[in-house]
Amino acid sequence: MTLLTAAVRDFALSLPADHLPAYVYDLDALREHAAFVRSVLPERVELYYAAKANPEAEILTALAPYTDGFEVSSGGELAHVATSVPGHALAFGGPGKTPEEIESALLLGVERFHVESAYELRMLANLAERLVPRVRIGVLLRFNLPVPADYLESSALAMGGRPAPFGIDPSQADGLVRQLTDGSFPQLELLGVHAHLASGLTARQQLAVAESVVVRASELAARHRIALREVNVGGGMTVDYADPDARFDWSAFGSGLARIADDHPALLLRIEPGRALTAYCGWYATDVLDVKHSHGEDFAVVRGGTHHLRTPATKGHDQPCAVLPLDTWPHPWPRAAVGGDPVTFVGQLCTPKDVLARGVPAAGLRSGDRVVFALAGAYAWNISHHDFLMHPRPGFHFLGTAVVPPRAPGAAESSAGARG
Ligand SMILES: *Cc1c(COP(=O)(O)O)cnc(C)c1O
Repeated sequence: MTLLTAAVRDFALSLPADHLPAYVYDLDALREHAAFVRSVLPERVELYYAAKANPEAEILTALAPYTDGFEVSSGGELAHVATSVPGHALAFGGPGKTPEEIESALLLGVERFHVESAYELRMLANLAERLVPRVRIGVLLRFNLPVPADYLESSALAMGGRPAPFGIDPSQADGLVRQLTDGSFPQLELLGVHAHLASGLTARQQLAVAESVVVRASELAARHRIALREVNVGGGMTVDYADPDARFDWSAFGSGLARIADDHPALLLRIEPGRALTAYCGWYATDVLDVKHSHGEDFAVVRGGTHHLRTPATKGHDQPCAVLPLDTWPHPWPRAAVGGDPVTFVGQLCTPKDVLARGVPAAGLRSGDRVVFALAGAYAWNISHHDFLMHPRPGFHFLGTAVVPPRAPGAAESSAGARG
């Protein structure tokens, strides 16, 4: 099992204890993964990254060369992504957009809006008319389309296919398309349809959903005798936390998307994964503070906890981890040690919910040993309740070769030369 890259393992062992816990990202591994994903997608499928999975600027920068754009779902993400990776295409989605958020998106020149409701469409049209009256605004209508019932059960999170605050009910589709094509909103250009219906789907399930979204979009276009240019079939590619070596079958997904694209030659398909792009490039490294035997079970208390890495608590899984024994022990008192295994790894919070992983084989585990939790590159730090109990924040480290922007031929060594 390859839970750690060599770079992350060496780094986790080299960090002094008072620099723990730490988030460690392997940007080379991220780039390699993103390059692979891009390489198996057909040319006519665009890849956007859903920034909410992990919006660290270094992550966005590493992903940028392999993506066609970024999906942002708040004014905060919008401003952050626009400054972190300037010049990249942005799609602004998400429910409950405020007038202020839409204003800043319009002024930033955001290429496309994923419109979530009839009200939002009116607001967007009105704000565009007042703020950027000569600019065409690209609109994708986000629909809450049906999803096969068995997918809803198996998928970890369902955003659509049932009553939900996300997207537009299909019963309103024809009315909104009419408004977008009869001159009611002259500035808004209906580019197509967006759907992000479920998260945690396998490639086969994703393809079935993508196909049905594309078919629905084509039927809608045919009914209104219009051409729809884009269909965004969303994200939600599965990450299997119980089997960290498993990967979403990007190759099969790419081939399936190629078939769908061939059936709809005028259509640009787009996907916007988050988790399955970045989950594998992040680790939460820490050390064992104490070990104890309680009512027949062994527990290890590690520095930090679910206030830094909330993923196992929210998803109810055991975060995959690797124990790295450390032979050096700096203190004059003896180390705490567990007799047997398995061990339950918990954090420092005074709540029974602060469990990172159960059933970890860790015979002979001692205080001071390092533990590195894998698959912590998405929905980890940024979804956690950092201030609960006022423990210090983790460090953040980005390993991998820095990507130096290509220099123009003949340019001076630094920008100072250009200025002089
Ligand atoms: C969260 C989200 C995504 C990404 O989902 P993942 O499960 O991380 O792939 C994509 N699109 C929308 C609209 C989202 O809300």
